[in-house]
Amino acid sequence: MDALPNRLEGKVAIVTGGASGIGESTVRLFTKYGAKVVIADVQDDLGVALCNDLVSESGDNVIYVHCDVTQESDVKNAVDTAVSKFGKLDIMFNNAGIPGNLDFKILESENENFKRVFEVNTFGSFLGAKHAARVMIPAKRGVILFTSSSASVVSGESPHSYTVSKHAVVGLMKNLSVELGQYGIRVNCISPGSVSTPLLTNAMGLEKAAVDDILCAASVLKEVVPTAEDIAEAAVYLGSDASKFVSGINLVVDGAYSTTNPTYT
Ligand code: NAD
Repeated sequence: MDALPNRLEGKVAIVTGGASGIGESTVRLFTKYGAKVVIADVQDDLGVALCNDLVSESGDNVIYVHCDVTQESDVKNAVDTAVSKFGKLDIMFNNAGIPGNLDFKILESENENFKRVFEVNTFGSFLGAKHAARVMIPAKRGVILFTSSSASVVSGESPHSYTVSKHAVVGLMKNLSVELGQYGIRVNCISPGSVSTPLLTNAMGLEKAAVDDILCAASVLKEVVPTAEDIAEAAVYLGSDASKFVSGINLVVDGAYSTTNPTYT
C-alpha cells in the first residue's frame, strides 16, 4: 500500500532522457503519482512506445517530444510544449546523459570525446535549466533537478570526461540554487551509483542479469540489487512538496558505496 499515492498530483514535469533507464523509470513513477509528463529524448521509437504504454494506463497525461538536449531550439520546444499542452512547468528533470569513451588515461584521451560528453551531460543540462527558468521565474515556483553521478563524489572510478561533466553539473546546481531561490525555485542534483540501465550494460558489454550480479556483490547493502526505480524514487521526493525546504543538495543514491571511497587500480 502506497502511503502517498498522489504526491505529484497537479504537477507538470519534463524528463530529458526519458525514454530509457533512469528517465523511463522516473516517467513511470511521476505519472503513477499523478504528474503530467513530457518525455524528451532522441530515441523517438522508445519514447513513443513508452508514451503509448502510459497513455493506455493513465490517459492523456503524457506526451513525447523529440529533444536533443544539445540543441537549444529542441529544449525550448520541449518547455514550450509542456506549457502549451499542460499549462505550466513544475519540474524540469535534466537527466539525459552519455558515458562517452573509457578515457581513464589522460595521454590516450580523445579531445572530441571530452567535448561531446561535456556537450551532452553539462551543456545539455545548462540549456534545460535555462529554459525551465525562463518559465519558472515569472511563475515564482518550480523544481529543477539534475542527474549527476557518484562520479561527482568518488575519484578514479569513471572516465575523465564523464567525471568532469558530472562535477560541473553539481557546480551548476549549486549556483542556480542560490540564484533562483528568491523566485521559489528549488534546484537539486541526484547522484546515482551504478544501476543496470542500457547505458551501463552497453558500457560493460554484459547482459542486465550479469551486471545486476556484479552490482549486488559490490553493494555495501548486501543482497540489494540497485535499480533505476531506486533513483527515480529520489526524483519523486525532490520533485514533490515533501522536499519544499530542500535545495542546493547533491543527493547521492548509491547504498553508501561512495563512502568506501574506492580508487581506480
Ligand atoms: P540510458 O542510456 O538508459 O538513458 C539515457 C537516455 O538519455 C537515453 O534514452 C538516451 O537516448 C538519452 N540521451 C542521450 N543523449 C541525449 C541527447 N543529446 N538528448 C536527449 N536525450 C539524450 O542511461 P541511464 O543510466 O538511465 O542514464 C541516465 C542518467 O543517469 C545519465 O545522465 C547518466 O549519466 C546518469 N547516471 C547513470 C548511472 C548508471 O549506472 N546507469 C550512474 C550514474 C549516473
